[in-house]
Amino acid sequence: MTIHTSPWPAVDLPECSVWDLVWSNPNNVPDAKPAVIDGASGRVWTRSELKTAAQQVAYGYRNTLGLQPGQVVCLFSPNSFYYHLLVIATQCAGCVFSGANAAYTPKELEHQLGDSTAAVVLCHPSVLETALAATRALGWSKQKQREKIVLAVQRDETGPAGDIYKCLNDIMTKVMPKPHHIANPKETVAFLGYSSGTSGKAKGVRTSAYNMTSVLSILKPLDITRDDVHLAVLPLNHIYGLTKLTVWPIVQGQTVVVMPKFELAGFCSLVERYKVSVILLVPPIALLLARDPIVDNYNMSSLKLVISGAAPLGPELERDLAKRLKTNVTQAYGLTESSPTTHYCPISSPSPGSIGPLLPMMKGRICDPETGEDVKEGEQGEMLLQGPNIMLGYLNRPEANAETLYEDKDGIWLKTGDIAWVDKRGFYYITDRLKELIKYKGLQIAPAELEGTLLDCPYVADAAVIGVWVEAQATELPRAYVVPSAEGKKQMDPAKAIREWVDGKVSNHKKLRGGVRLVESVPKSPSGKLLRRILREEAKREEERE
Ligand code: AMP
Repeated sequence: MTIHTSPWPAVDLPECSVWDLVWSNPNNVPDAKPAVIDGASGRVWTRSELKTAAQQVAYGYRNTLGLQPGQVVCLFSPNSFYYHLLVIATQCAGCVFSGANAAYTPKELEHQLGDSTAAVVLCHPSVLETALAATRALGWSKQKQREKIVLAVQRDETGPAGDIYKCLNDIMTKVMPKPHHIANPKETVAFLGYSSGTSGKAKGVRTSAYNMTSVLSILKPLDITRDDVHLAVLPLNHIYGLTKLTVWPIVQGQTVVVMPKFELAGFCSLVERYKVSVILLVPPIALLLARDPIVDNYNMSSLKLVISGAAPLGPELERDLAKRLKTNVTQAYGLTESSPTTHYCPISSPSPGSIGPLLPMMKGRICDPETGEDVKEGEQGEMLLQGPNIMLGYLNRPEANAETLYEDKDGIWLKTGDIAWVDKRGFYYITDRLKELIKYKGLQIAPAELEGTLLDCPYVADAAVIGVWVEAQATELPRAYVVPSAEGKKQMDPAKAIREWVDGKVSNHKKLRGGVRLVESVPKSPSGKLLRRILREEAKREEERE
């Protein structure tokens, strides 16, 4: 068996709560240093203000909202000035943090709230209607909504909804004297993100306190120091933004400028204004920064590092971006199930197209997906990972756990569902994806979920969904192959009617941007399993013909 290890030295893995690690201040950063800056308003949380406010929110969780340690708090908000505060307050109170994508439809939010049994929803006023619809569908009475939905802003920002619902001021009445002590960080769930994993619909990923403190410790090789300034444009509810732009910068003492929604000119102007030095991004943003003329209007010279993750970044784009911004561009890799980061390509060894070697304490293998045997050196196969940051498992999904986590004499391996190969230096290259997952601009789309929505459509008799890679946008787009129903065939343009129907039911990133193709049947195995591989091959052939 060939087990790859990290080239970096081992690091200490603390066994404590996330709260204790967050404030351990290993870099001796002064209390008055800005921890968070609101890009829109310029408001600042210094480190000490943030800590005190988090202890106030934690007090409110216990005393106003009646939350007990271990209960789930869902934050349903776009990136905001309060995001860091609410993430760490949840850790102070010993509750489980579950961030929901602010673009969710009521049905999508209902799934996450119901599956996670969230006890409280912290909700940005801009998405309150969605939260009300989702909780109504879950059977929450008006009174329960008033008790358990809190507007995740301060009183003067609530708008008229503040007359009905509580806001942060209402729960921040006192400071929690003693942060919650976690007796067993390895077994205690601290975060519950949502990921479809290798197949099926979004599942709750049980990230323990130890998983999180471990990943924060193994990020040591990243070329980022305490004096760096981040621009947080990635959604902070997703594990990539949650770990690397929310919790980790506070541990390290970096400053994070928060941007609620990506827009290129605004992004560049924040880089210029706050002398941003590090940007974590996804390939479609890399593409805009590399090619759009707007970028020339701004002084981007403060940038010293750009890290791309969440989806593949081609070597050409990586080089073009480095040239354009005159800075270092590199890649990291991870998945929700590994909290997330497992690989990083250091700037001392530029290797465009590679995700770099394993981070400290990580082990990796490349296996033949059919036989489970290790492949020969340098050959491609499914990447398996082992390390202290691998999730405890999916919530209430024994079958998915059995499919994804595999134990042998060396310990528990996570089957990533990604195809990779490793060069002689131990640098990994992701070449394909075995699992069903589609990623649109770094955001997850579960084909099974879109197929479920399609089958609800009266114009559809059968359907399968795949991702198609579009180089010009540096992302995958979801495409549906659909057998129209009799009703569907009567439509003037069935493909258009089906697409419009589905796009009206799902959140923005899940829209069928890859189009709808009408087919006579969707390929299935004798046991009825969809054969998406055949459709992917068909899509490739179609692309070659074009
Ligand atoms: P998520 O759980 O949403 O973070 O998605 C994880 C998946 O994103 C991985 O399993 C990969 O398929 C993909 N991914 C993440 N980082 C990279 C990367 N640097 N290159 C290629 N694919 C990536």
